[in-house]
Amino acid sequence: MVKKFGDNTVLDDLNFTVTKGERVTLIGPSGSGKTTILRLVMTLEELTGGYIHIGGTPLQYQEQGGKRVRISDKRRRRTTTDIGMVFQHFNLFPNMTVMENIIEAPVNVMGLKKAEAEAKAEALLDKVGMAWKKDARPNELSGGQQQRIAIARALAMDPEILLLDEVTSALDPELVGEVLAVLKDIAAETDISMLIVTHEMQFARDVSDRVMMFDQGSVIEEGLPDKIFSEPENQRTQDFLRAVL
Ligand code: ATP
Repeated sequence: MVKKFGDNTVLDDLNFTVTKGERVTLIGPSGSGKTTILRLVMTLEELTGGYIHIGGTPLQYQEQGGKRVRISDKRRRRTTTDIGMVFQHFNLFPNMTVMENIIEAPVNVMGLKKAEAEAKAEALLDKVGMAWKKDARPNELSGGQQQRIAIARALAMDPEILLLDEVTSALDPELVGEVLAVLKDIAAETDISMLIVTHEMQFARDVSDRVMMFDQGSVIEEGLPDKIFSEPENQRTQDFLRAVL
């Protein structure tokens, strides 16, 4: 895949595969293109060149008769229901209750009956320890609580892929643990594929099957978390880890 913003080539012919159920963490300096990758997979950004496939289905563009052809919006929308994303700043709908936030997409996008969506939401809220706040509005909740709701909201669509974009970066330090604990449980109890951008290196070590180190839009080193964190080979990986650990 290629992504440019104007003259700025952010991802330069990047090529990687995530297998079903795999948890891959992207690490690297600020501006290296990690968030852009997640936004491209979520189709929040347009690919400049190349392709992204989800389970063999092209997401934004496909090759057809030697040409690069854009996928129709309808088909793209259908494919992206398999993908859930949790953002740094939660992005909950402020005018809706917790329950309304969670059932919005299952009812309006998936076509679930309201009662069915609510039952499912209750179970998810239970899982993230937030059932007791189902009638609250986001501004009545702490950052950690809002993020746990955002995780429940993403899971309500039964995604095959979960994209986690620095989900603890906006939280006060004492709230980070509760969010990471919920994510660790989900990682242990489901086989959802995960693409994770985080500065929480211990979390990355605990949940990842693979860690990819980015620099200037390219993968400069990748491997098992133990290998990358304990014995990085690339000098830039060593420097980066020394600065953040
Ligand atoms: P961070 O850890 O700081 O979030 P990152 O590795 O996730 O960094 P990106 O946010 O993907 O990096 O940004 C990569 C590059 O793309 C940066 O140079 C950034 O300025 C640029 N960029 C990102 N989004 C846009 C945009 N909407 N318009 C223009 N440039 C952008």
